[in-house]
Amino acid sequence: MASASETVSAASPARLTDGEVPVVTRFAPSPTGFLHIGGARTALFNWLFARHHGGKALLRIEDTDKARSTQPAIDAIIDGLAWLGLDWDAEPVFQSAQADRHVEVAHALLDAGHAYKCFATPEELEAMRAEQRANKQPMRYDGRWRDRDPSEAPAGAPYVVRLRTPLTGETTIEDRVQGPVTVANAELDDYVLLRGDGSPTYMLAVVVDDHDMGVTHVIRGDDHLNNAFRQLPIYRAMDEIAKATGAPGWPDPVYAHIPLIHGADGAKLSKRHGALGVEAYRDEMGILPETLSNYLLRLGWGFGDRELITREEAVSLFDLAGVGKSPSRFDIKKLQNLNGHYIREADDARLAALVAPRLAALSPQFEAESGLALLERAMPVLKVRAADLDELAGGAGFLFAKRPLSLDEKATTLMTADARSMLARILARFEAENRWTTDSLEASLKAMAEELGVGLGKLAQPLRAALTGQATSPGIFDVLCLLGKDESLGRIRDQAM
Ligand code: GLU
Repeated sequence: MASASETVSAASPARLTDGEVPVVTRFAPSPTGFLHIGGARTALFNWLFARHHGGKALLRIEDTDKARSTQPAIDAIIDGLAWLGLDWDAEPVFQSAQADRHVEVAHALLDAGHAYKCFATPEELEAMRAEQRANKQPMRYDGRWRDRDPSEAPAGAPYVVRLRTPLTGETTIEDRVQGPVTVANAELDDYVLLRGDGSPTYMLAVVVDDHDMGVTHVIRGDDHLNNAFRQLPIYRAMDEIAKATGAPGWPDPVYAHIPLIHGADGAKLSKRHGALGVEAYRDEMGILPETLSNYLLRLGWGFGDRELITREEAVSLFDLAGVGKSPSRFDIKKLQNLNGHYIREADDARLAALVAPRLAALSPQFEAESGLALLERAMPVLKVRAADLDELAGGAGFLFAKRPLSLDEKATTLMTADARSMLARILARFEAENRWTTDSLEASLKAMAEELGVGLGKLAQPLRAALTGQATSPGIFDVLCLLGKDESLGRIRDQAM
């Protein structure tokens, strides 16, 4: 297959489409904090789009802001992506490591006249902005060094390198989500490519890296749409330089700017809406990765009204055409409902392993080594009642409680003298049971209720309280079987009189 750059036609600017070339996408987080759920969704969309088209999904860590980028943030992002099951087709690219290449491109632009040195001092620029403010003009660099000769600057004066952006005409981006978006070129100023200290700016770095990584589709939050209009002139200028020398071109990428996620109240998602970091959903809220993945997929992308979509289905169905233009609202209730679904679907051994550390934190009596097998056996009856891993852990606690059980408030209320004498009868009957199965125990307790002329609940309620210390639990016959005969009889004996 031809590489992306080889397919560029002579007509400029070339446009690649997913129909013609291998797709290469990238997720490019700035590691200044945890993996935000909005970022996770962007990562997911990039990954799915690449997988759908049999292309490549790449990861780039945009760590050029050294003051704000941290190793724990990098680790949290990589970890969060792996947890979501998103893998990448190459080792992550660290933007800071590419600085020399960014500088090289800036110099190529400078040499070809697509960029120029600006010697304006900070004070001068501040005065320019103050004047623009006073005149209620838009604040942007006025191009004062665009056509001046550098020899007019004092010898050795510091300078920045600015891009010579087109002054007239307009630029239209056929955004795959937003549709055509047009901006007048006069609105773009000659922004800085290389700072006074020679370091490259973010705007330059993104374009150079995307080009060098062969990125064909830039799928990102629509807060970057304005940047696309500033980034395109670099592609166009570099493409022109490449054409002149017969080097591979710099085709425009396809852009897809996806709307941001909003909170339930319609405002942009922020801390006050609750957790923002993926790890909080995993650690604090006990959400499964397949839940968050399915939920984030549906948040902004639709396939009819299907809510449940597996990863495999998503790979086969996902395309940019299904991404909505308006912001979607994060609905925690929906996420929890979906989690209940995925918990019910999940493998019991996996759930037991996920619940074990939570259970150990909740119930000191739980010992993972001896308790894991019971936890796994109990999973089918526990998981039908839980919407997250903490609820699962909470629901499993009674299995590992040590005798005599302490009863919770509701169970204590149930434990009347009448109830305790019922327990004594149940104890006598169950001691004589040879078979300890849900069916036989159910038949036995029903027969007993009939003999006594009472409803089954009259027996089952104190039995539940004695066995679990709670007024609610999985089915009582399941509980009896999970605890086994000796433990069950012991717990009943502790409460009987
Ligand atoms: N690093 C940018 C961010 O985290 C994304 C840049 C891009 O996708 O072009 O918002």
